[in-house]
Amino acid sequence: MSKTAQTAATDTDTDTDTSKNPPHYLMWFRRDLRIHDNTALAALCERANEDNASVSAVFFLTPEQWQAHDTSLVQVDHIARTLPILAKELQSQLNITLTVQLCSSFADCIDALTTLCNDNEISCIMANHEYEGNEIDRDEQLSKQLAKDGIEFVRWHDQCILPPKTITTNDGDSMYKVFTPFYKKWRHTLDVSTIQMHEAPAVDSDYKIKLPSSQTFANTIDKIKSLSEKMLSDYQQTLEKNESLQHIDMIAQLDRARDAYPAGESAACQRLEAFVDDDINNYDVSRDVPHLHATSQLSAYLTIGSISPRLCYLQANAAQEKLHGNDGDNEDINRWISELAWRDFYRHVLVEKPNLIRHKAYKEETDTKINWSYDTDDFEAWCTGMTGVPLVDAAMRCLNATGFMHNRLRMVTAMFLTKDLLIDWRLGERYFMQQLIDGDFASNNGGWQWSASTGTDSAPYFRIMNPFSQANTHDSKALFIKTWLPELKDIPNSILHNEDKMRKELAKGGKFADVDYPAPMVEHKSARKLAIAEFKK
Ligand code: FAD
Repeated sequence: MSKTAQTAATDTDTDTDTSKNPPHYLMWFRRDLRIHDNTALAALCERANEDNASVSAVFFLTPEQWQAHDTSLVQVDHIARTLPILAKELQSQLNITLTVQLCSSFADCIDALTTLCNDNEISCIMANHEYEGNEIDRDEQLSKQLAKDGIEFVRWHDQCILPPKTITTNDGDSMYKVFTPFYKKWRHTLDVSTIQMHEAPAVDSDYKIKLPSSQTFANTIDKIKSLSEKMLSDYQQTLEKNESLQHIDMIAQLDRARDAYPAGESAACQRLEAFVDDDINNYDVSRDVPHLHATSQLSAYLTIGSISPRLCYLQANAAQEKLHGNDGDNEDINRWISELAWRDFYRHVLVEKPNLIRHKAYKEETDTKINWSYDTDDFEAWCTGMTGVPLVDAAMRCLNATGFMHNRLRMVTAMFLTKDLLIDWRLGERYFMQQLIDGDFASNNGGWQWSASTGTDSAPYFRIMNPFSQANTHDSKALFIKTWLPELKDIPNSILHNEDKMRKELAKGGKFADVDYPAPMVEHKSARKLAIAEFKK
């Protein structure tokens, strides 16, 4: 084994004995499927050039793990579509070959990486941190195993604009529990420091890793495409066996998501540029109007890492400076930047409270003291968009059809499930992960616990959104409702936005005579009272 291979497991500044064979280094891609401002990739390439090392890259397709995480088919498809593009860019821009290997479980991943390192005399692996519980366990286990063989495993913070644990209270090193002071400190930290974008230099020497013949792998663009497609179709078949997902037309959902989200880093960057040039300027007002599609719709790209969050921040900041100079203060742009901060906030929270990954409530007492419902009929009505509450049903049908839901509607539907129906938030959290193209543990868990009033800095339990008045305010012309519930196209908005009027009209037949649509399954006023009583208790 070379001298490099005997270095300490986390020492990045190790001298390398270049008199022996040039060392081999490996970039392990996970949720960072891009080449620009990829912290681990840049560090590895720089180091490789200093050490005269060759570089290769690997990505593991992990269907069992995705199933365990309830990863949606549309997200797996997005990853599968991104990989060949990443492989092409790595090769043409950095001279690195990407190998994609099928590896069902996490345990398999550890074995595969260890074998790969030993067979190829790889002495250093670099990757970007993942913050979910079993990913952390996997990395710890791997790190120990590799260290025994003297192989370095270096991880970098890359997923956030400011990494977890960096924004702490002024009087010590504890985590902010409330978003507003977190945000102030986050903004201040960014104002006084320079954000580094990490660009990887091309490497001199590419290396095609050898894999045991027993492994399923691909290392050319065409093979990556066909392996990803095969894996996707197997994954789809597995999901189709899940009875609770039978109401989803997966092919139609895939088609829509493919149209809406072209894959790859360039597509993501173009979307960012278009948003910063235009919609960001009205964001503060239009972000709450679902039918406008006026938010960035970058979450699907941020979730799989095909765009850097720092680039998002820097572009927004540059737009601010262009408009207002160095002291720029634009409400629309600030509001969008604050949404990026929510994403960082929930990652800070997750790292602080690893119990969240085990689906524990942040306010743990709500796990035992709230008498959550598990009524399967109620839950099914919510999943299928048949609650009789137009905004909730339109939002759920949009999610089922497209794999995306607008932020305001995520709050409305989540509150309806957890407050009006008092159903355990974990069921909704899981269902969202199964459908969303941007499904992301930290943000999804944060959003659900916010809505269920079980999280840190969550909605106060007595502030329960009325889905009818939410529709009146945010979909006043019922354009969104009527897009997803075409059966209601002839019902006047004044009825759709008012629960009492809707019940009366349904009772007498009236305008609903020929319409196949259910009456609201609960009365909001009384459901609200029950929920408040349950939380008070
Ligand atoms: P924009 O409004 O353009 O915001 C820009 C970016 O900021 C987003 O892409 C996202 O990365 C981040 N962001 C915006 N709002 C939030 C927020 N409230 N919390 C955390 N980050 C935010 N977001 C996910 O990325 N994945 C999820 O699985 C997810 N689940 C959610 C579940 C619930 C119940 C709720 C209430 C919110 C959830 N969110 C989730 C947050 C938010 O709804 C989405 O990030 C947003 O709708 C994505 O659309 P966009 O990219 O157009 O957002």
